[in-house]
Amino acid sequence: MKIRAAYVPETNKLLVETLELDAPKAGELLVRIRAAGVCHSDLHTLRGELRTQPPLVLGHEGAGVVEAVGPGVTRFQPGDRVVINWLPGCHVCPTCQRGYENICERLFSTTFAGVMLDGTSRLHTTDGGFVKQYLSAATMAEYAVVPEDGAIPLLDGVPFDVGAIIGCAVITGVGAVLNTAKVKEGSTAAVIGCGGIGLSAIQGCVVAGCTDIIAVDVLDEKLAFARELGATDTINATKEDPVKALKERTNGGPNYVFDSVGSTRTIVQALDAAGPAGVATIMGLHGALEHASISPASLIFQNKSLLGSFAGTVKPLRDLPMLQRLYLSGRLQLDKLITKHYPLDGIAQAFEDMEAGKVARGVL
Ligand SMILES: [Zn+2]
Ligand SMILES: [Zn+2]
Repeated sequence: MKIRAAYVPETNKLLVETLELDAPKAGELLVRIRAAGVCHSDLHTLRGELRTQPPLVLGHEGAGVVEAVGPGVTRFQPGDRVVINWLPGCHVCPTCQRGYENICERLFSTTFAGVMLDGTSRLHTTDGGFVKQYLSAATMAEYAVVPEDGAIPLLDGVPFDVGAIIGCAVITGVGAVLNTAKVKEGSTAAVIGCGGIGLSAIQGCVVAGCTDIIAVDVLDEKLAFARELGATDTINATKEDPVKALKERTNGGPNYVFDSVGSTRTIVQALDAAGPAGVATIMGLHGALEHASISPASLIFQNKSLLGSFAGTVKPLRDLPMLQRLYLSGRLQLDKLITKHYPLDGIAQAFEDMEAGKVARGVL
């Protein structure tokens, strides 16, 4: 079938074009995409900074309605509302067995290669040229074909746009708190960066029962928004040294620091700011290709931990329904994270607004 999609034929070239999408094969679903989240990973991929290289269709955060199912599909039927899960683990590799489906060993030949589980793509140019499906999903399109495990039921009462962001931004932030750092009730916490992931981490700290949640950003507007979502205090890093300020306000440093930026600078700040026996958890990817210089003294003499957290150490079948229930019970304010909607043709503008820090999360 012919679909319109956000197509990247080569690095730094973004088009909204008509492409050909094959019917779902065995164990696959055709999903009509109703909402697609706009993520920094999509922008990094457009720029050729991540593993999956063009030609490809962007988008990995999405929600929609199952239109058709391939042979052998048992969990879904046409008409079902679903969230796209771009991290379907194999459940059998040693890493999955150790509990880390988010870094399943199969993902390198499927999700990160931009192909389906059988190694092929359902997308082509109209003249038959090969096109990858970004993260086995390609949700920035009218329709997408995904593996059956690449979908999770969207619960009644959860809107499509909220569904679209839970599988990436929200689980990356909330999961870093609950799964990776395993924050203990009554702890103090700080979150560096107040975009979609940072704001999700702040809400995760609320769910975890933190007494102090200090938001750090460079824009007062974002800090005010962080307070609405549960931050108890804020620090503008352009006006005061965030490490010094965090230490002063939390008896030598927060028990947990979450870095949603992931630049070489903020990684060092997160570790230095963490208090005695504190835990610094890095969730952001901005410095993914660089090397940060950390202080062994800061790490060792204070018995600190420095953790990496990919996609909130998500176990999709467990966590994506949990996030929806936390939303339905009013404990995660996910509507507020979605600050702007765009048409598919507005993708370039959506990236621009995201870079300028104008949106917490944009949805197509
Ligand atoms: Zn994402
Ligand atoms: Zn696996």
